[in-house]
Amino acid sequence: MSLLIKNIGELFDGYKVMKNTCIYIENGLIADIGKEREADEIIDAGNKFVMPGFVDCHTHTVFADYRDFEVEWKIEGLSYQEIAEKGGGISYTVEETRRASKERLKKEAMQRIKEMIAHGTTTLEIKSGYGLDKNSEIKMLEVIEELNRKMPIDIIPTFLAHAIPHDADAEEFTQEIVEEMIPEIGKRKLAKFCDVFCEKGYFSVEQSKKILMEAKKYGMLPKIHADEFTCMGCSRLAAEIKAASADHLLMTGEEEMRLLASAGVVATLLPATPFVLDEGYPDARSMIDNGVIVALATDMNPNCYTLNMQFVVQLACYKMRMKPLEALRAATLNAAKALKMDDSVGSIEAGKKADLLIMNVPSHTFIPYKIGVNLVEKVIKEGKTIYSK
Ligand SMILES: [Zn+2]
Repeated sequence: MSLLIKNIGELFDGYKVMKNTCIYIENGLIADIGKEREADEIIDAGNKFVMPGFVDCHTHTVFADYRDFEVEWKIEGLSYQEIAEKGGGISYTVEETRRASKERLKKEAMQRIKEMIAHGTTTLEIKSGYGLDKNSEIKMLEVIEELNRKMPIDIIPTFLAHAIPHDADAEEFTQEIVEEMIPEIGKRKLAKFCDVFCEKGYFSVEQSKKILMEAKKYGMLPKIHADEFTCMGCSRLAAEIKAASADHLLMTGEEEMRLLASAGVVATLLPATPFVLDEGYPDARSMIDNGVIVALATDMNPNCYTLNMQFVVQLACYKMRMKPLEALRAATLNAAKALKMDDSVGSIEAGKKADLLIMNVPSHTFIPYKIGVNLVEKVIKEGKTIYSK
């Protein structure tokens, strides 16, 4: 089965842009670029802009019930912590998610994933972390596994130690994660990554390290929610244990940036979260200038409800001073690096999966320019059209 996408006005391949070209695809993989030839199927891109499918490398897409009631509290100026104390926040979602059946969790997540696909996401990471007990965490990971089988995109599961339950002691809960949750999740291969919310009031640096080192024994690769509200050594830990990524990084200093850069840890920035919390943004400019590999993701969750990577690219450009090509690379190739999948997705290169988007604009500069509408015209996953406007 072969496919030719011709009349591409501008192509971003993950590295650079080129004009007036075409892509030849064979059996779902990119075969070559720039040479028109006979194919079983031809798609005319109509001189539009073509790019790799978005890789949303940090999301919490599986959860029950919404937290729209927090919007007014946010407008009143309540902090993330104050919202949690008022009955919102993670613990609200934990209660609802524990009660929800697998069927319900799956159905609601499928709806969200359909919208993500329509906005150009072709590879998606989803974390557990709203169960906070063994059975509920495993329930979430089983739902993610089923979603990966049912949905036409790649879905990558992460086990997340997200918070300490109200009635639990941090040390004891860490012990429970290490002794009970990780061995079962590891043996059943329910997660590719293990992630920890390393933060004041959540898991300490020591506890995070203990969890991630144990997960490593079971083949789960480490990720860390680091330096979101305080810089207490979490990004240093990410560098020390060579995590696949350190995520959020609002408070990260230049010294930590250099450590991340030399350890090859991807910095996954999530600008939609400070957008909804009305906080400052991560210093993407300094990170890039210090040689850090920067990735972007939605952080889709009940606090930050966006399914749209185009919006994240736009925030990255206007609020974090990333250049359009830097932001697009961060949302595709670098995000694939954060998932250790850059050998198969994230760019348009011979041998990689033919995951690409035809956008309803003439060039890459229109992605941050034309805001507030969905710019995707066609989504192609492994050579098959999975969404068309
Ligand atoms: Zn997160």
